Amino acid sequence: MKKSRAPVICANWKMYKNIEEALAFIDVVIPVAEQSDCEVLIAVPFTAIRSCADRVRGTRISIGAQNMNDATAGAFTGEVSASMLQEAGATFVIVGHSERRRLFGETNSFIHQKIKRALDVGLRPIVCIGENYEERENGATHAVLKMQLQECLGDISKEATSHLMVAYEPNWAVGTGLPANPETVHQAIDDCRAFLGELWSSADAQRVTFLYGGSVDVQNAATFLQTPNIDGLLIGSVSLDPDSFAKIISLRQNVGAR
Ligand code: PEP
Repeated sequence: MKKSRAPVICANWKMYKNIEEALAFIDVVIPVAEQSDCEVLIAVPFTAIRSCADRVRGTRISIGAQNMNDATAGAFTGEVSASMLQEAGATFVIVGHSERRRLFGETNSFIHQKIKRALDVGLRPIVCIGENYEERENGATHAVLKMQLQECLGDISKEATSHLMVAYEPNWAVGTGLPANPETVHQAIDDCRAFLGELWSSADAQRVTFLYGGSVDVQNAATFLQTPNIDGLLIGSVSLDPDSFAKIISLRQNVGAR
């Protein structure tokens, strides 16, 4: 089956890299990204957005943030709004990452507000969903994913679907070195897309880009990229190394369009 959605390879640097390190990374990756047919996204720390966005101008790479607040402005010490991110040069934002849900208590309703606010200012949200280990063991994966999609995207307008990315990141696979089985990911994304089809329409659901994230590395990336339903990858730890990240971008070239 040929994919109609553009392939995406996204780095999530978490709380790593100062500006100098970020720019050195980008200089390694630009030539590889230029040879590629994928959208290359890098979610950098807030402090590096402006410098990185300046460095990638005119290339295939886009810079984004890893989080944002759902308010437009206000007395929220330490928080950053969607329009501030956009002003700094971000074009996308990760919302609802499992680390934010687990370590900072983020709920689906908070994530839903962030998605709306991001779309309001033209930032593309990457909405992270995924079950934890107990939920998978208890056979609750389907119900958990459905609830996350319902509560995060329930009243998002179907006009937004082509700007939306959903990252299926089973919590037990994130940062553990234990990637999910590609067949499991295929099935989960199938279920998610079917549910989004009920929410909007099947044609609208087809426009949403689905990424897989969770212990992707240079060895397993090609298999995920060849798996039907997976439009791209969200990569944490391995994306900190420019050579590995560049290698994964070029693997996608070899896998080609399906
Ligand atoms: C992530 O941070 O979104 C992620 C998938 O991390 P890792 O690749 O390290 O599992």
